Amino acid sequence: MRGLFCEGDSVRLRRDLEAPRPLDGEVVLRVRSVGICDTDMQLARGYMGFRGVLGHEFVGSDDAGRRYVAEINNACHRCDTCRAGRPTHCPQRTVLGIVAHDGAMADAVAVPRANLHAVPDDVDDHSAVFVEPLAAAYQILEQVRVLPGDRVAVLGDGKLGLLSAWVLRTAAERVTLIGRHAHKLALAGSAIAQRSARECADLARSFDVVVDATGSPSGFGDAITLARPRGTVVLKTTVAGAHTLSLAPLVIDELTVVGSRCGPFAKAIAALASGAVDVRPLVSEVFSLDDAEAAFACATRKGVAKVVIDVARGG
Ligand SMILES: [Zn+2]
Ligand SMILES: [Zn+2]
Repeated sequence: MRGLFCEGDSVRLRRDLEAPRPLDGEVVLRVRSVGICDTDMQLARGYMGFRGVLGHEFVGSDDAGRRYVAEINNACHRCDTCRAGRPTHCPQRTVLGIVAHDGAMADAVAVPRANLHAVPDDVDDHSAVFVEPLAAAYQILEQVRVLPGDRVAVLGDGKLGLLSAWVLRTAAERVTLIGRHAHKLALAGSAIAQRSARECADLARSFDVVVDATGSPSGFGDAITLARPRGTVVLKTTVAGAHTLSLAPLVIDELTVVGSRCGPFAKAIAALASGAVDVRPLVSEVFSLDDAEAAFACATRKGVAKVVIDVARGG
């Protein structure tokens, strides 16, 4: 079968891959569409030393044609962490297309049956590709109590920043997206206030909840600046490299810092089905699997939002 293979420091479309061999408890899905995200581009540059088929944001179908998305953490379901109800933190876990498990930028993928979520008819394939990152955005609301009157800021106008802003807007009336690119900020729509990152100093201490989705080492410091005393800072993106900043403001202002990763698929699917969140403005390019290498190159260009590989269309 075909698959976009990460060799550690490069990606290559291979046509000689064996069909996935499902482990115990796994099913094989035919891939319909798969998105390219920043993590994929980091993996392609050698982050985590991954070798294998990339792709963790996907929708696939079984033999009966039913469509599914799949959670990406493949837990053992036996260890103390799993039994305590934290399977996404299972120390033995593999992660689809990220850690020791082939992903979905291919004709087919094997995933644990326990990780599947059915996709309702009113969610199209290209929207379904966003269930995984949208669930990650919903994780903020699982971890932080956001009230309707809260002032919320999201730092970073990339895909996760936009998704986080839309999700937070379902809970709070005043959400501000802060970023460096006017055309990306504009994608947020009129229900979200938009400000330039250059205005951070003017906005100091004015938000109850601040989400850092910049993926940049400077994001955390800016988030601390924006939070009011006893406010909450949510770190949503990992940053390769070290931070150099003073943590004294966390103590002086008694800030709460929350790290946030994978989230509830069911809530993301419900939001897409009801139209509470519309992710379609984020799809900027669609490629076939045969053009996966070109898709990858496209995704690395500045100004591009989500690149989708439509495997079903490519035949
Ligand atoms: Zn991703
Ligand atoms: Zn476990």
